[in-house]
Amino acid sequence: MMTIDIRKLNAQKKYEGDMEFEYSAPDSLIDIPFVKFGTPIKVRFSYELFEDDSLEIRGSVAFRLEGQCSRCLKETGADIEGELDAYFQPTKDCEDYSYSNGIVDLKKAVEEAVMACLPFTLSCEEECEPIRFSSDDTVK
Ligand SMILES: [Zn+2]
Repeated sequence: MMTIDIRKLNAQKKYEGDMEFEYSAPDSLIDIPFVKFGTPIKVRFSYELFEDDSLEIRGSVAFRLEGQCSRCLKETGADIEGELDAYFQPTKDCEDYSYSNGIVDLKKAVEEAVMACLPFTLSCEEECEPIRFSSDDTVK
């Protein structure tokens, strides 16, 4: 469920509330070599619907990354959490996210929140030895 039905919230007078869902994000969001999502994105937020039908959400995105350590190349993982703050307006003439036909689609805001908190590298949870590509290494 990546959408919020504004008409339904208005009809039910649910102008505030909490929501959470999971989103299986595409690994293409990740820019680190040999690293993938180890879990779906856990999305949690509270929302507020204003009289002009604009919607504000504030919460978090949390997920696990799994793949090769960028230093020693061993399999490792990391738990990541980031902020999700977005403002949606029912008009295209705005600097915020816009929506149409009464349906707010959260996908873009969630994906941008995920990308904003992605690290540049993945490394072991404990210190590890960087792999050395030394010309002095000889096979005995
Ligand atoms: Zn490592």
